[in-house]
Amino acid sequence: MLEVNGIMSAELHETLRETKFNVCIQCGTCSASCPLLVNARSPLNPRMLMLEVAYILRGINPQESLKEHSEVWDCTTCSTCSSRCPRDARPLDVIVGLRRLLLEQGLVPRNLGKMLEKVYMYGNAWGGMEDRAAWAQGLRVRLAQERGEAEKLYFVGCASSYDLRARRIARSTVHVLNSLNVEFSILGGEEKCCGGEAYSLGEKGLFEELANANLEAFERYKVKEVLTSCPHGYNAFKYRYRKAGFEVFHYTTYLTALIDSGRLMFSRKMEKTIAFHDSCYLGKHNGIYDEPRKVLESMPGVRLVEMSRSRKMSMCCEGGGGRMWHDIPGSRLSDLRVKDALESGAEIIATACPFCLLTIEDSIKTLGVENRIAVMDIMELLAECGPRLV
Ligand code: SF4
Ligand code: SF4
Repeated sequence: MLEVNGIMSAELHETLRETKFNVCIQCGTCSASCPLLVNARSPLNPRMLMLEVAYILRGINPQESLKEHSEVWDCTTCSTCSSRCPRDARPLDVIVGLRRLLLEQGLVPRNLGKMLEKVYMYGNAWGGMEDRAAWAQGLRVRLAQERGEAEKLYFVGCASSYDLRARRIARSTVHVLNSLNVEFSILGGEEKCCGGEAYSLGEKGLFEELANANLEAFERYKVKEVLTSCPHGYNAFKYRYRKAGFEVFHYTTYLTALIDSGRLMFSRKMEKTIAFHDSCYLGKHNGIYDEPRKVLESMPGVRLVEMSRSRKMSMCCEGGGGRMWHDIPGSRLSDLRVKDALESGAEIIATACPFCLLTIEDSIKTLGVENRIAVMDIMELLAECGPRLV
């Protein structure tokens, strides 16, 4: 039986027994590196959560319930805590498990509940009801349905399908792939949200429903390769979907292979100083740090600079883990990223994630620095350079 203001010990056991809560040595590295805690954005304290959960589950303090800990909804799922834990205790798994338990009791912030409802009703977190391929109007794009197969699939994702700014990522991706003579298809109306955000919010049932619908489409169209422009989708396909005979690539890794083959050329220069912002789902979750930089450096004229916090030490934009739909008081971490980029001397912040693009663009406007710096997805930059294969 569940109680409203806490999570019962039995439920904790059931949900968290697969996590590695019991290897935590309370060193505090997770809390000391959590960007929300160290920037005083939230009381979220992964070390304390690990301790409280372990006390109950090990029977050291056999209290009947864990208190609500509503601050778990503040977590961006950036994985800084898990990636730096010396014991591989994965505090993020515990946080997602706690979210699942709160969700089951209906203790979910209103905005997040609404967002999950939209995913359930419309198959996308934006609540978009128009054709999912409307962004592709006027472009040369094949639908998987036209040929009945889609060996190479461009999985567009919700943000790039419905958000007016992020749609430019999808349009640029199509432009670049066509310029490189890559044969690809999209699923259009048969593409559903990847479910990555639902999973990180603890909505496992909804995630499985979405994953099954996408997997059925992959099987129907004999998909062998899935190309994503969103690291959240990349991560979901790689780790959360059951193996179904397809490989998944984020476009930065796909393009790196072309660069290595020496066949990628450009007809125009990009005379700009650019800093790359590491997306957490590409970097900390998947260790992809070199590839985006390699793609940027391949563009003629680009001067690549590093922000003081980059690669493994990079800081989250605060858009993951459902936080695109759930704000908390105070200035956002993406504001700090814009300041980091300005200090590095960059004119452009390059991103490889639609969530990062949107949060950073918002911060550029909020800080009133549009005349000093801009944010662009790597695909947008590539499209401007006129890529071609030789
Ligand atoms: S979860 Fe890992 S980093 Fe955090 S206190 Fe425990 S051992 Fe240290
Ligand atoms: S995933 Fe990121 S925001 Fe969440 S607790 Fe860990 S470090 Fe903090």
